[in-house]
Amino acid sequence: MCLSRLLLVCFLLSTTFSFAQPAPAAKPAQAAKAALGFSVDNIDKTMNPCVDFYQYACGNWLKNTEIPADQPEWVSFIELYERNLVTEREILEKASVNNPGRSAVEQKIGDYYSSCMDEKAVDAKGLDALKSELDRISAVKDKTGLIDAIAHVHLIGPNPLFRFYSSPDLHNADMVIAYVDQGGLTLPDRDYYIKDDAKMAEMRKHLTEYATQMFTLAGRSPQQAADSAQTILRIETALAKASMDRTLRRDPKNRDHKMSRDQAATLASNFYLNRYFTAVGAPSFSDLNVSNPDFFKQVNAVVESEPLDAWKIYVSWHLLDSAAPWLSKPFVDTNFKMQQYLTGQEKIQDRWKRCVDSTDQALGEALGQKYVELTFGPESKQRMLKMVDALEKALDQDIHGLPWMSEDTKKQAKIKLQAIRNKIGYPDVWRDYSSLNIERGDLLGNFLRANAFESKRQIVKIGKPLDRKEWGMTPPTVNAYYSGSHNEIVFPAGILQPPFFDQKMDDAINFGGIGAVIGHELTHGFDDQGRKFDPQGNLRDWWTEQDGKEFEKRAGCIADEYGSFVAVDDLKLNGKLTLGENTADNGGARIALMALREMLAQDGKSGEKSDGYMPEQRFFLGYGRVWCEKRRPEFSRMLVSVDPHSPGRYRVNGVMQNMPEFQQAWGCKAGQPMVRQNACRVW
Ligand SMILES: [Zn+2]
Repeated sequence: MCLSRLLLVCFLLSTTFSFAQPAPAAKPAQAAKAALGFSVDNIDKTMNPCVDFYQYACGNWLKNTEIPADQPEWVSFIELYERNLVTEREILEKASVNNPGRSAVEQKIGDYYSSCMDEKAVDAKGLDALKSELDRISAVKDKTGLIDAIAHVHLIGPNPLFRFYSSPDLHNADMVIAYVDQGGLTLPDRDYYIKDDAKMAEMRKHLTEYATQMFTLAGRSPQQAADSAQTILRIETALAKASMDRTLRRDPKNRDHKMSRDQAATLASNFYLNRYFTAVGAPSFSDLNVSNPDFFKQVNAVVESEPLDAWKIYVSWHLLDSAAPWLSKPFVDTNFKMQQYLTGQEKIQDRWKRCVDSTDQALGEALGQKYVELTFGPESKQRMLKMVDALEKALDQDIHGLPWMSEDTKKQAKIKLQAIRNKIGYPDVWRDYSSLNIERGDLLGNFLRANAFESKRQIVKIGKPLDRKEWGMTPPTVNAYYSGSHNEIVFPAGILQPPFFDQKMDDAINFGGIGAVIGHELTHGFDDQGRKFDPQGNLRDWWTEQDGKEFEKRAGCIADEYGSFVAVDDLKLNGKLTLGENTADNGGARIALMALREMLAQDGKSGEKSDGYMPEQRFFLGYGRVWCEKRRPEFSRMLVSVDPHSPGRYRVNGVMQNMPEFQQAWGCKAGQPMVRQNACRVW
C-alpha cells in the first residue's frame, strides 16, 4: 500500500510489490507462539557492545534462528505478522460457517475466505474464471478500444501502461484531485530493465521464461508464448526507460506538475486521456497532476509504434500476472517460481495464510473490526496516547535546542509539530462494504470485484474535500506511517504488540520499541521529503534559505554514512534512497530516549536496574531486538533497489554510531567501532 500511495512513509517496507504475489508471511502456527517479546536470551554477551552492538543485542537470536522456508526473511515484525495471521484465521473460520445468524460483515469476510480456501473449486475452474476478461481484451479492434480496455483492467486491479489514482492536491491538501503517473512494469523497479549487470540480466531472462510459461498455460503455442514474452519485455523496457528513478521521485517537487485536463491530453495524444477518464468512470474535473510528464511524452511514441496486437498481449499479461495467485494450481506455482527468483523464498506459504492475507487486502476494515475486538483494549490505547504525548514533547524540546536552526524556522517547525494528528489502533469510522458483492465459491470474481470496489472508492474522491478520518492501512497491519499531505502519524493495532509494545514490560523496553517507532514517524514530518510540506499538508517551503542549507549538509552526512554500508556481497546501500528512513531512525531513537529519561525522572526510576541492565541500556537493547533480522541474499539484493529502509543491522548500528547517549550508556571509547568520528545528526 505504501508503495502505491506516494505520500505515505512507512515504518517498514510494504510487501505489496507490483509483482502480483500476496505479501510474504508466515511460519508454522505453533512456532509463532514462541517468545516474541524482549528477552536477554537473545543477547550475545561474548560480544562487546561498543564493537558491534547489533551483534551484541541479536547475536544469540541470529545463532538460533532459521528463516522459515516460506519466508524471504525473518524479523520481529514478520513474526508478529505471523501471529496476527493465526488470530485472523480463527475469526475467518468462524465467520465462514454459513449460518443465517451471521452479520453482514461476517458474511463478507467469511465467504471471501471460504471461496479462497476452496482449492478444489478453484482448480476445477482453471482459467475459465478469467476467460471473459481475456476475451474482452482479444475483442479490441483499435487503439481507442485499447484505451477502454486498459481503463477496465485498471478498475479490476493491475496497472498496465500507467497509473491513475486520486490524492490530495500538493498545493491545497484539503482537496483531492486526479493523478496520472508512470507505471506498467512487472519487475519491481525500472533498474531491472535498464541495468546491464549480470543479476539484472538474469532477472529479465526469468521474466521472459515466466511469461512464456504463463502464456502456454493460457493456451498459446510454445512459439506464440515465447514471442509474447519478448513483446512484454520490449514494451516494459521502453516504459522503464521513460520512468523516473526512485531517488529522484523522493523529491515531491519532481512529481509536482498540475495542469489542465486538455494540457495533459495534448502532452501524450496517443494515450487518449480524455477517453480514458470517461471509460474509467471518473467524475468531471478540470485539472490533474501529471507526476512524470516526461514519461507520457516519451511513451507516447511507443503507444503509436507498437502494433495493436502487441498491446493486447501486454494488457492480457498484466491481468494474467495479477490474477495468477487466485487461479488454479499450475498458475499459482508458475507465479510463485518467479517470486522465488526475486526473493529466494524456498516454499510457498500455506494456502490459509495466503487466503487470510487476501481477505485482509480485500476487506481489511471488515476483518479489522473483528480483529480489534479481540486484540486491542482501551488500556493499550491510553498507554500509547501517553507515549505519543511524551514523544511529541521530546521532539519539541529537541527542536528548541537545535544549534543549527534559526528561531524563525524553529517557530515554523513547532507549528507543524503541533498540527500533527495521531491515529491509534483503528479508524473511528469503519469503511462500508455493503455495495461489494462477495459470493461463496467465486474466488476470482470476489478478488476482481474487491479490486473494483477499491478503485471506484478512490476515483469518486476526485474533486471532493479530503476525508481526514480515513486510514491508509488496515488494523491488523504490522506497520506504521506518516503522511505528509495529511500531516498525521498512524499506528494500526497490529503493531501495538510485543516486541514493539508490551504491557508487561518496563518503559525502557517500550520506549526502545514502539517509542522509537513513534519518534521515527514524527521525524518523517521533518525528513528530506516531509520538511517540504507545511502544517496543512501543502508543498510549501517554510524554511529560511540558510536553514535549508544547514539541513542539507546534515542530511548529506547521513546519506554518506549509510551509502558506505554493504547490504549483500559487494552491493552497497543507496544512501539517498534510504535518507528519509535513516533520518527518521536517528531522530526517532534520540527523541524516544529523551522522552524515556523524562518519564523515568517523573516516576523516580532513573537508576533502577532490571536483568542487570540500566534503563538506558535496556532502551537500546529493546531497540535492537526489533531489528534482529535474517534475510535471503536474493531478497537483500531486491530491497537495495526498491526499499527506502536500511537492513536491520544498519537500522541499529547506523543509529548507535551517531549517538553520544549510546556511547555513554555502554561506556564506549573514542576509536571503537560504535563511536563514529564525525557523528551525523539532523534532529
Ligand atoms: Zn519510515
